[in-house]
Amino acid sequence: MLIDLHTHSRHSDGTQAPAELVREAARGGLHVLALTDHDVSTGWLEAGNQAQEVGITLIPGIEISCSRRGTSVHLLGYLLDPDHPQLSGELATAREHRVHRIKVMADRLESAGYPVTFRTVVDQAGEGATLGRPHLADTLVAAGRFPDRTAAFGAVLHRSSPFYVSHYAPDPVRAVELVRAAGGVAVMAHPFAGARGAIVGDEVIEEMVAAGLDGLEVDHRDHPPPAIVRAEALCRRFGLLRTGSSDYHGTGKPNRLGEHLTTPEVLDEIIARGTGALPMGAPLKHRGSARSDAQ
Ligand code: AMP
Ligand code: ZN
Ligand code: FE
Ligand code: FE
Repeated sequence: MLIDLHTHSRHSDGTQAPAELVREAARGGLHVLALTDHDVSTGWLEAGNQAQEVGITLIPGIEISCSRRGTSVHLLGYLLDPDHPQLSGELATAREHRVHRIKVMADRLESAGYPVTFRTVVDQAGEGATLGRPHLADTLVAAGRFPDRTAAFGAVLHRSSPFYVSHYAPDPVRAVELVRAAGGVAVMAHPFAGARGAIVGDEVIEEMVAAGLDGLEVDHRDHPPPAIVRAEALCRRFGLLRTGSSDYHGTGKPNRLGEHLTTPEVLDEIIARGTGALPMGAPLKHRGSARSDAQ
């Protein structure tokens, strides 16, 4: 049973349509895939329909960008009700601020002579996508200014770059509360991915646990061995679910689909806890599955 619970499509900063992503997952032998676009759930329907076609299960999810006094935290929310008023309001606000922020960044880059305008970034991203720095990167790559996203991030898009602008993002404790209020399962994404920037301390994770955090994404390519040990210890201490996933972004990042996986037991627990949305696509078929008989 191969289960990958963290991937992105063109509805945020992945490079494939949801259906394309699902087809690739099925071709690669995955049985269960979660679509977790940044701050948006608009890809679920297409992904779920395609999952039904190709015979895999789709766990609908999102990855919420959060901020604790300027330090970035990503929270995965599974099986939540996307129409929950407070949650959807918070996500809509974040997406609006992201648009403005990308406009300011594009203007700054353009003023400095980089081949980018806000219009070209929006065209690059596609209508309706959650706009992010990767779309600025893709625009600069398409114009021949950098070879790939990683190079563009390293040169001009990283958090201490003069071109960097932050955007509104909810506090991680508030985000956990909203995911839970929307019937979802809250899993902190790559908690110790220190190479990408500052990370929050264990005390913030403890606050998130008190607010109802369900799990930690332990197995992730941005976690070196000491990070795994530290995350495992927190899982034991707080009784948290341990997930592992690829954080696949299509051709936008080197991450390969299915490079890290989650166990069927943890998936069963996620499905048992999530009450805001149902799994989509083909029913789960494996022994001991909490809900497979009922579906
Ligand atoms: P944003 O949310 O707009 O600030 O952009 C953050 C997103 O950019 C992350 O979720 C990653 O998907 C992506 N990202 C961050 N660093 C890099 C990098 N070095 N190369 C490619 N993508 C990156
Ligand atoms: Zn991303
Ligand atoms: Fe993330
Ligand atoms: Fe991600």
